[in-house]
Amino acid sequence: MIQQPARRPIRSVAVIGGGAAGWMCAAAISKSFGRDVQVQLVESEEIGIVGVGEATVPHISVFNRLLGIDEAEFVRQTQGTFKLGIQFNDWGKLGDSYIHGFGTIGRDLGLMPFHQYWLKARAAGRAGDISRYSLNTVAAPLGKFMVPPSDAPPHSPLAEIAYAYHFDATLYARFLRRHAEKQGVKRTEGKVVAVQQNPDTGFIESVRLESGAEIAAELFIDCTGFRALLIEDTLRAGFEDWTHWLPCDRAVAAPSQNVGPPTPYTRSTARAAGWQWRIPLQHRTGNGYVYSSQAISDNEAQASLLKHLDGPALADPRLIRFTTGVRRKLWDKNVIALGLAGGFIEPLESTALFLIQSGISHLMSLFPTLDFEPAVRDKYNAQMQFEYERIRDFIILHYHATSRDDSDFWNHVRTMEVPASLKANMEVFAANGQFFREGAELFGLTSWVQVMLGQGILPRNYHPAVDWVKEEDAFALVDHVENVVAANVGLMPRHEDFIARHCAAAPAYAPV
Ligand code: FAD
Repeated sequence: MIQQPARRPIRSVAVIGGGAAGWMCAAAISKSFGRDVQVQLVESEEIGIVGVGEATVPHISVFNRLLGIDEAEFVRQTQGTFKLGIQFNDWGKLGDSYIHGFGTIGRDLGLMPFHQYWLKARAAGRAGDISRYSLNTVAAPLGKFMVPPSDAPPHSPLAEIAYAYHFDATLYARFLRRHAEKQGVKRTEGKVVAVQQNPDTGFIESVRLESGAEIAAELFIDCTGFRALLIEDTLRAGFEDWTHWLPCDRAVAAPSQNVGPPTPYTRSTARAAGWQWRIPLQHRTGNGYVYSSQAISDNEAQASLLKHLDGPALADPRLIRFTTGVRRKLWDKNVIALGLAGGFIEPLESTALFLIQSGISHLMSLFPTLDFEPAVRDKYNAQMQFEYERIRDFIILHYHATSRDDSDFWNHVRTMEVPASLKANMEVFAANGQFFREGAELFGLTSWVQVMLGQGILPRNYHPAVDWVKEEDAFALVDHVENVVAANVGLMPRHEDFIARHCAAAPAYAPV
């Protein structure tokens, strides 16, 4: 009989940190492994969480479904709203505005994606702005929203509405905590003050809390935010700094009072030294100015933020410092870093929570045994590095493809050398409007097309295969899509009415 090697499964996981990363991870592991793996989470209320991170991409609904979370309950409990995309103002040049919407643009025909026919129709003066051919980009500025109705005919744009959420980051962490604790996650309050490593292997064996308590585990997940207590302070995994491409290194954030119904999109407005976000929630609006400290002072950034709020501020602005980049090893020895402990790319396309989700999903697929095979760890690191780099490129695109020349900041990002991978993508698109998604990169064709066009890159040619379709058929396709999109948006309710009917939160400041 062939002798099988003894199985050495991991039985205990310690998640250090209780922000979104920590609780997302603890909830996912406890859901997937049940009682076979004991999950403990340590967090310190005194240190607290970063408390921003309120806009998402559509993939989060997959994560919620994995956890068995009811959507309406989730939106209610987090004061959430819905998001069809991001509106970018003043990015390509002052006065410009475009929406990067989720979902599809038009209908593909034959070998070619819709936007290739649109390029031909546009060159002939037969098509309007690309935003008129996608349900999300028509519905968003009109304040319309609905989730796909169960009785929508297949292939109708309504059946394919792609959306994400805005939510209150603190309420989100609390929501996940309740969920994870119900699944058996054991939470310990306390500050980690020391880390014990195996003297031979350097693997982490336990952490000691200020109270003197020891938390031991076989696998550690570092979710300690920018502190990166295990992966960097202890293991010295190293950090790849991307500030030379993405020079913003600070944000000031302040909530403001709602002054109208919540828009079903995030707003990003380019400013002299960075950009300002506006995220509408049911009970307030989240705002922040992401900027380069080389270009303006903290006081100037704060003043600019306060000047550009839609409504009165509800709290003093809070300063957050960061360095853009990623750990050289996101998984080192028996530690995996998730969230801000692993890396940070500014929130321009709301990608940080997605990267946590992706890290968790790769961890699930590559879950180690006590042998901690290097090949498994290396695969994880390579996959995650790739995803970080592709998102990095997409974010740099917004800064680099601009004609803004009204400040030193914009002159720098417009003229800087960009990664070769991004340069190649921009050059191919400028030549014939094509884009190739590689591997599991987050943003696909429609995202790149919308942002490249929105930032002012208009392809010199459309693809020759478009001419294989009769001209009148190509133009008829473009007209048809525009009419179908407009008709379907006409059937959608207003965003605030949809929320009121399905998932209105309790008033946040109601007297008790
Ligand atoms: P944190 O929230 O900082 O949590 C760290 C945890 O570690 C805390 O519980 C803390 O108590 C604990 N801890 C630290 N040290 C110790 C210790 N010694 N002992 C015990 N516990 C400890 N993401 C998006 O997806 N969309 C957005 O719109 C978005 N906007 C952002 C805007 C800004 C300005 C910034 C900085 C980030 C933004 N992000 C966004 C990122 C998002 O906020 C984070 O990815 C997310 O909140 C996860 O944070 P975290 O859990 O890694 O860290």
